[in-house]
Amino acid sequence: MLLRHTTPDVMERQALTINPAKTCQPIGAMYAALGIHGCLPHSHGSQGCCSYHRSTLTRHYKEPVMAATSSFTEGASVFGGQANLVQAINNIFTVYEPDVIAVHSTCLSETIGDDLQQICKKASDDGKIPEGKHVIYAPTPSFVGSHVTGYANMAQAMAEQFAESNGEKLNQINIAAGWMEPSDMREIKRIAKEMGVTIRLFPDTSDVLDAPQTGKHVFYPKGGISVDDLKSTGDSTFTIALGCFSGEPAAIALDKKCKVPFQTEDIPFGLSATDRFLSTLSKAAGVKIPESLADERGRLLDVMTDMEQYFHGRKVALFGDPDHLIPLTEFLVDLNMKPVHIVSGTPGKRFEQRIRAILGDTVPEANVKNGPQADMFLLHQWIKNEPVDLIIGNTYGKYIARDEDIPFVRFGFPILDRIGHSYFPGVGYMGGLRIAEKILGVLMDRQDRDAPEESFELVM
Ligand code: SF4
Repeated sequence: MLLRHTTPDVMERQALTINPAKTCQPIGAMYAALGIHGCLPHSHGSQGCCSYHRSTLTRHYKEPVMAATSSFTEGASVFGGQANLVQAINNIFTVYEPDVIAVHSTCLSETIGDDLQQICKKASDDGKIPEGKHVIYAPTPSFVGSHVTGYANMAQAMAEQFAESNGEKLNQINIAAGWMEPSDMREIKRIAKEMGVTIRLFPDTSDVLDAPQTGKHVFYPKGGISVDDLKSTGDSTFTIALGCFSGEPAAIALDKKCKVPFQTEDIPFGLSATDRFLSTLSKAAGVKIPESLADERGRLLDVMTDMEQYFHGRKVALFGDPDHLIPLTEFLVDLNMKPVHIVSGTPGKRFEQRIRAILGDTVPEANVKNGPQADMFLLHQWIKNEPVDLIIGNTYGKYIARDEDIPFVRFGFPILDRIGHSYFPGVGYMGGLRIAEKILGVLMDRQDRDAPEESFELVM
């Protein structure tokens, strides 16, 4: 009912977005910054922006998200926010004592033309940055890109502003992590440990946004990559970037600054992407894939073949972030499902190219679009024209799912009305099992709900 005005007539739009399939850049920058140990993200703009970014992350992770703001009022909005930021840096180091302040800009400060590099240098010249403490910065104007761009910009800033090289290579591999859940980052570290590979994963939000309840409030939880480990990424032998939108820019920056070669892989959601990630990690580190991981692969494959009859030919509409949708689409194709409508609000040419290559001859007629006009309204219109058996995406998809009475799996960012995403990994073979189980769960629930009395089966 909520979306009763959505019509099936798709009109070409150029300057109108209705219910965007993305959110704003600084949210991504704030999330990435939380992946450094002892870091306080700082929003250079008005209090309203900062409150929105914090509340979105808090609602998704069900954890208190700390961040500071330059608290722009009328004066700063007209004359620039340099004085506010320099004062803020001084106050934050005095009162909250972080190891790092990670400053990101906002629409307002970018429109005024504030130069974060120059302001942070002034703070340093004025002695506002104590010995051994750090301020990094990333431009995140939200009138372009999306939260994914903001995440990538902050991860790139970490590489550019922390990585050092003393010319002696260390026996370690960098993983420039694309936007993943804390549980996914934990799983990547487990997989690397299982393979006996030392990795430097950054950003790393595990044990920050999924920190255990101990009864004591800890301002800076124990997780996050340390500044020393971030510095050492410049001496690693290789970097694997996970996700060409959110992970690759940091790997490029490391290569440029410290000559660390890199290869970009998809975030390992599903069977094929995990195969490629493990293969690249094993080659880069010169180790074999252990039997324990081969067993996990076998278990996922077993479920995929056992349950093929439920997956086969089911039409899927999915929306969200490109680095999630690319491997997810591939996994759906591996499951013999048919992704027919795919939408991402994040711009970038490589999205459609990759999706089309994955769909190939299997679903050549699929609707695929990304960028500002690739919104939830368009997705709903496509679904009205060609109904689907399943919708996969973030919480905002629940309106379409309810309106059209379609099974719905929550996946991506933000998920505001469920838990689990930050605790159970979606990456790796075990993560693939979880995604498959979630899809099967809603499809079989629907089959049960709609089955006539005589074919309502106990064993399916
Ligand atoms: S879109 Fe711009 S103005 Fe709105 S919350 Fe994000 S940074 Fe602030």
